[in-house]
Amino acid sequence: MTNSDRTNLYDLTPSELHDALRERVSPPFRAKQIEQWLHVRGADSFDAMTNIPKDLRARLAEEFTVAFPEVVERTTPAADGSRKYLFALGDGSRIESVYMPMHDRTSVCLSSQAGCAVGCTFCVTGFFGAGRNLTPAEMLGQFFTVQHEHDVPSESMNVVFMGMGEPLLNLEHLVTTLDILYRSVAPKRITVSTSGIIPGIEALAKLERRPNLAISINAPDRKRREEIMPITTKYPLQELMAALRRYPAERGRALTIEYVLLAGYNDAASDAVALARLIRGLDAKVNAIPFNEDVNLPSWMKRPSDEAIDRFVDTLVRNDVAVTVRRSKGREIAAACGQLRGKAEARSRASRQREGAQRRVDRAGGEEPARVKRDVVHGERR
Ligand code: SAH
Ligand code: SF4
Repeated sequence: MTNSDRTNLYDLTPSELHDALRERVSPPFRAKQIEQWLHVRGADSFDAMTNIPKDLRARLAEEFTVAFPEVVERTTPAADGSRKYLFALGDGSRIESVYMPMHDRTSVCLSSQAGCAVGCTFCVTGFFGAGRNLTPAEMLGQFFTVQHEHDVPSESMNVVFMGMGEPLLNLEHLVTTLDILYRSVAPKRITVSTSGIIPGIEALAKLERRPNLAISINAPDRKRREEIMPITTKYPLQELMAALRRYPAERGRALTIEYVLLAGYNDAASDAVALARLIRGLDAKVNAIPFNEDVNLPSWMKRPSDEAIDRFVDTLVRNDVAVTVRRSKGREIAAACGQLRGKAEARSRASRQREGAQRRVDRAGGEEPARVKRDVVHGERR
């Protein structure tokens, strides 16, 4: 049997895994041990399962794999310790994840697709176009790889699906991944970010255990949202807002409204007032993300000045909106998911890719104090 004929055990839902093991493994406590090795400890090989008899491991390996994507590049840690990972998938696709140490917690930002068909004009992943859905094994592999490399206890982990791709266009695999992550990370510690795929939001709303929801609004009105997020013509802004108003609220779990600030485009005080009006009545906080510049993106798109960012944020606060700003340079590498792959693709030789990553991280280094108006970011407390 070739590798691809075998099912990766990480692609099975918890109940499928349970059934698969029950048929093949006895006594039942052995099956439980294997489930633990996978869903709690994130073993990346059968060999790692040291308390499982060798012949049983060999028998399982004839039918199954437990492979994760391979890390092909790690950036040098930024000033705040953030680090970006580039993974190679079996079919040669490249995806990124970001490790972000916080004060008492660690966030890991995961990709859900190997590209993105949504095509937001300010996004490098969108610029490079559609990519296939990631499998649960590929999403879980990002999580466990980063967790293991930094030796972070599960109870200190936050997970955000804010890397490459639109998670709600990969709903089935996302839900399997969430169900497995919930074994070690509480739903309130997981955030899924969407460009506003209404059927996906409605599907999440029906789940028994829901992650936090972040929505990339990015513009204060329909016209501008259509310009920079063409998906708005398919899922109109007013309908999206209505879907968010219907989304079941949970205590202490406000929605996050993401807003990429583009100089001279959506960063005026009047835009902040319009945004405050748009989200009025929602239990929501705004995460303002200063635009991250990239050579592949339109040259008119610029990061606003600090004064403009301050004015925007202050206006939101005066309009009773809770807001956080992603101000730290290190954190910005998270907003730039897709950039590492983008630059790697633009070059041909691996060594040049490595040098480039080093230079980019050096440029991104240098911590600015995060200006936090209220104290909540991505569902975690600072
Ligand atoms: N597809 C999902 C999740 C991935 S994008 C979504 O769109 O929500 C994660 C966040 O990065 C989004 O809020 C998006 O608006 C933001 N983003 C994309 N490109 C960016 C850039 N160049 N600068 C700053 N933020 C960006
Ligand atoms: Fe896709 Fe999100 Fe980028 Fe838009 S911002 S292109 S939805 S990854």
